Amino acid sequence: MVKRFIIAIDLGGTNLKCALLDSGLKIKAKNSFSTKSFNNRVKLIRGIKDSINSFILNQGLARRSILGVGIGLPGPVDTFKGVVHFLPNIPGWKEVGLKEILEQETKLPVFMDNDAKLMALAEYKGGAAKGYKNVLCLTLGTGVGGGLIIDGSLYRGRDNAAGEIGHLPLNEKGPLCGCGKQACLEAYIGNSRIIKYARKLFNNKITLEEISRLAKNNDRKAIKFWKQIASHLGIALSGAVNLLNLDAIIIGGGVSDAGAVLFGTIKQTILLRAMSVQAKRVKVFKARLGNDAGIIGAGYLVKERLTR
Ligand SMILES: [Zn+2]
Repeated sequence: MVKRFIIAIDLGGTNLKCALLDSGLKIKAKNSFSTKSFNNRVKLIRGIKDSINSFILNQGLARRSILGVGIGLPGPVDTFKGVVHFLPNIPGWKEVGLKEILEQETKLPVFMDNDAKLMALAEYKGGAAKGYKNVLCLTLGTGVGGGLIIDGSLYRGRDNAAGEIGHLPLNEKGPLCGCGKQACLEAYIGNSRIIKYARKLFNNKITLEEISRLAKNNDRKAIKFWKQIASHLGIALSGAVNLLNLDAIIIGGGVSDAGAVLFGTIKQTILLRAMSVQAKRVKVFKARLGNDAGIIGAGYLVKERLTR
């Protein structure tokens, strides 16, 4: 039997990750580039196309052995038409028909969706959310992404735009957000915001990894830092828990490495602020698939679309 493969791409504000997956979604080869090294949209699309072609070439694969290409994008996407509406943290993208462009250039079927939705799909099918039917997955990074599983399937909403927990307003007025509105959760806990807060509290060179390490060694300032972030997050999540009566919340992305102080404070805040039935029900876990969640989710997307 001919072996079949999927090419999966996870485009983030920081990195463009590409992988070759086998039909069981095991990673066979992987590449990563800095998104900023492609300084405009045309170059970035060419970079995506080149990395697809280089897997085929370097692995000596026949084009017909590739089932399809799956792409996760950090912003609102029309998953069925294959149009990227815009990318809040990558300038120059507005109503781009990426599916059509890439299908023409690669002669392969291309499927795409929002990256946080793909992460939710991956964690639900084979990660920390496996076995739970009502789940909110968050990824904390440059942006704050979200994906919702309701009654065992990915909930998309009317325009495939549901799940945007990062743009849940925390206040009536507050800091400006990447989406153009104000006082969204992301404007309080997105990476650029918390790095600014970290530099004020510590020094100009500190990284989030260092603050996580300090917190694990009981440094008081580091604990205060993560508690503040977890409290913003816990309050937003309390609203989601009340609204949706979730079984589980899964948190991934760099910030989730902060560990016990982050997760403990989120749970405490939910118990304090959400209604008791919903608050007692919900479990909060760290994402299990780590950096590969977007890639694996893109693989599930291709399989799902092809079997439909
Ligand atoms: Zn926003």
